[in-house]
Formats: sequence, structure tokens, C-alpha cells
Amino acid sequence: MDVDRRRALVLGGSIAGLFAARVLADHYEEVIIVDRDKLVGTDGHRRGRPQGRHINAMHVRGLLVAEELFPGFIDEMVADGCPTGDYAGSVRWYFNGRPIKRERIGYLAVPARAPLMERHLRERVQVLPAVRFLERRDIVDLTTTTDRSQVTGVRLRQLDGDRQEELVEADLVIDTTGRGSRTPAQLKRLGYPRVPEDRTKIDLGYVTQHYVLKDDPFKGDLAIIPVAYPDSPRGAIFTKTDNGKVELTTYGLLGDHPPTDQEGLYAFIKSLAVPDIYDALQSAEPIDEPVAFHYPVTLRRRYERMHRFPDGLLVIGDAITSFNPVYAQGMTVAALSALTLRDHLNLPGPPDPLAFFRDMAKDVIDAPWDMTHAVDLNFPDVPGERPPKLRMAQRFLALVQAAATQDEKVTTAYLRTAGMVDRPDALMRPAMLARVLLGALAAARSGAGRQPRR
Ligand SMILES: Cc1cc2nc3c(=O)[nH]c(=O)nc-3n(C[C@H](O)[C@H](O)[C@H](O)COP(=O)(O)OP(=O)(O)OC[C@H]3O[C@@H](n4cnc5c(N)ncnc54)[C@H](O)[C@@H]3O)c2cc1C
Repeated sequence: MDVDRRRALVLGGSIAGLFAARVLADHYEEVIIVDRDKLVGTDGHRRGRPQGRHINAMHVRGLLVAEELFPGFIDEMVADGCPTGDYAGSVRWYFNGRPIKRERIGYLAVPARAPLMERHLRERVQVLPAVRFLERRDIVDLTTTTDRSQVTGVRLRQLDGDRQEELVEADLVIDTTGRGSRTPAQLKRLGYPRVPEDRTKIDLGYVTQHYVLKDDPFKGDLAIIPVAYPDSPRGAIFTKTDNGKVELTTYGLLGDHPPTDQEGLYAFIKSLAVPDIYDALQSAEPIDEPVAFHYPVTLRRRYERMHRFPDGLLVIGDAITSFNPVYAQGMTVAALSALTLRDHLNLPGPPDPLAFFRDMAKDVIDAPWDMTHAVDLNFPDVPGERPPKLRMAQRFLALVQAAATQDEKVTTAYLRTAGMVDRPDALMRPAMLARVLLGALAAARSGAGRQPRR
């Protein structure tokens, strides 16, 4: 090991932290994961990851990266009771209230409740000889050299016992503390410029509940997903999950949030653009209380636009970009970020933070961010600029969604893009472009317009 690769510190031991630790363990003698929660041996919900009470589905590309970094990971989840199906063929998607054509895509979907998936990733990281966990510690601040050009470690406070402070030194610190990351405040304290941010107010409300079913209203499918759209800004993700349970997240945008009382929740579900989920619930038994989550704004921290940044510090995961959760991108982006980290660790010397952030933006974040930002701005009351380029992207996506109601090859191309297997420009290849235009025309001719709100 190089002299500058003795110890790496990962701040936050959730999904992004675990993927990062896996890659760091190949390059550092010691990798320490710090978290305010108890992690090792935890099997249920935890305070530090409240979104874990809601559906956290991993896209195709995330599962592929997880399997690359942790061979056998999918088999382990299946052995633990997770169902599997084809990512396109087994999922009943509705866009604009209309079902899209389906065919098997050849990639697996493996729906798992968030704590179960996190535990499986963590158990694989735990056994890596370089890795150890420092739990029940609050990360207080970063320590630096006197000229503040290099991060040298962190100051922690123990959350149990006499709440002692401790200093931990490291050659590299990676912030994966999620959306509430204190790095922007720390940088300000250290005299660095403000971190540029992009924010879009979507005022999203989630409510999640679990059920057992008396029969199979899915009729062999794995999930039913009516996506919210401007005429009906309410949507849902209804999916089979581990050990015979069913997980339902219902959501509404712009303050139109699902209620948490049972009767009100059923009424909200009945108002969705398609009846499938309400019908399925007629034979379902709730096994817990509905739980809510409020997600006010999407948030992207533009570290790649900074001109000065301390050495020895990188940021990954929700701490850098917090996507609209409806589109299920966060964990896949966290997985892909670990691959970018690996590329930078394969270079000689310590990682260059600004070069890392530029590659993250270009190779990992831009495509999913731009795609779903355009979708969010389809809702007229979501504030934000709508320049001609964005309007063109919105129109093209509308054509793709219309064409997918007629042509399963368009569905496959679209879901490969949404699943981050292909970049969005794959939809613009001449042969696919022709299918999109012909399919959209056929959809218009068939009169398959947007469904009225129920
Ligand atoms: C409602 C909701 C639903 C979502 N659904 C999906 C989905 O379907 N698919 C998907 O891919 N993504 C989804 N996401 C995003 C996904 O949950 C995250 O992308 C994923 O968890 C990776 O986040 P992370 O590891 O960067 O941060 P987090 O998961 O937020 O974890 C941060 C960690 O840092 C620790 N921490 C924070 N501050 C401190 C501190 N000061 N001291 C010590 N420890 C600290 C916390 O305890 C926690 O363990 C959803 C998000 C939300 C909010």
C-alpha cells in the first residue's frame, strides 16, 4: 500500500457508504465506517435512514453493479425470500394512465424491503478484512491541516456513555451522510466558497403500508406502477416483496399528500388513474400502520462547479444528489459512484476531488438528473425554468411514452434507459427514433389519450 493509502474514513454506513467501502477496501489498509446508528446486526428500520420505511427499489444497473462488487448478492437475497421477475416483462407500468406494451428484457427485478437489502450489502462489507465499523458516533466536524488545504480526519462524539469526543485521522474522508450532509457548512467554516446547489420544489408526500394477500391480484406480475402525471399528480408503487409480503407506497405531488388514516388512504388509492391497486387491496390484509414521509425539494450539490476544494475529501450518494424518490435512482447512482471512485483510486497518488466531481457529474449524475428533472417540470405548478432544450426533452419523452403503449421494443429501450443500463441518447438512434415516431402516431390514431382523473 502507498504511504497515502493507510486509512480511509467513510462517514455514513448506508447504501452509498457500503458501496464506497467495498471499493476502498481494495486500496486502503484500513477502512472505517462511522455512523450515528447501530448498524452491525441490525435487521429493521433505523433512525438514520428514515426512507427505509418506504419502497427502495434498485434499478437494473444498480443490481448489476451490486452483483459485480458482491458476487452472489442476488442469490443471497433470493435465498432470504425475495421474489424475482423480469424488469420489463413482469412489471405493470402505467404512464399517463395508460398501460405500456411489455416484453421480457432479460434483466432481473429483485424487490426487497430497504432494511433487508441494506443488511445484505452490509454483511458482505463486514467480512472484508480491511473494514471496521465505528457506530453510535455523531460526526461533529472535519479536521484539516493548518492551511486548511487538506482534510486530515474527523472529530466525532460518542452517542452512548459519557458522550466523549474523539479524533480519527485518515488519508481520505468520504462523506456519505446523505441529504443532510454537513459538508457545505464545514466548507464555509473553513473559508471555502459556497457550494452551488440546484433545488426544485416538488412537495412530495409518501405513505407506505405493508399487506398480506389472500389471492394473487398481480396475476403473476411482480409489481403494479401507475406513475403520476400532470392530469393526475398521484401515483403508486405496489410490489411483491420478501417472504410473501406486499409493499405499497402511494404518493402525491405539490402538497396533495396521501393521508395516513386507513379509510382516507384507501380513498386516495381509489382516486388513482388506474383501478388495479384499489381492486387488489380488496383481498389484502394490512400488517402495519401507514407511515408518511415528506420530501420537499430535489437537491443537487454542484461540487464539480467549485474552483477550490480541500484535498483528502470526497462526497458521494444523497449527500451530493438527492433525486425525486419516485424514480428510484438514488441507490443505483450510489452504486455507479463507487465505480467512478474505483477509477480514481486506480490512478497514482491521492484522488483529485475536483476531477472526481467532474467525472461524477458527467458519467453518473447528469443523465438521470436531467431526465427526471424534465419529468418533474412537466407539472405546471412545479417552479423552475423551462428553456427550449428542456421543453424538447419533455416532448420527446411524451412521444416515447405514447409509443410504448403500442410497441414493446420502445418499452424495452425506454426501460433500459430508465434502469440506467443505456444512456438516454440510445432512444435517439435512427432505428429507435423511427419506432418512437411511428408508435406515437399509432397511439394518437388509436385515440388512446390521457385517462380522465377518477
Ligand atoms: C422516501 C424515499 C424513497 C426512496 N426510494 C428509493 C428507491 O425506490 N430507489 C432508490 O434507488 N433510491 C431511493 N431513495 C434514495 C435512497 O434511499 C438513497 O439514495 C440511498 O439510501 C443512498 O443514500 P446514502 O447512503 O447516500 O444516504 P442515506 O441512506 O441517507 O444514509 C446516510 C447515513 O449517514 C448517517 N449519518 C448522517 N448524518 C450523520 C452524522 N452527523 N453522524 C453520523 N452518521 C450520520 C445516517 O445514520 C445514515 O446511515 C429514496 C429516498 C427517499 C427519501
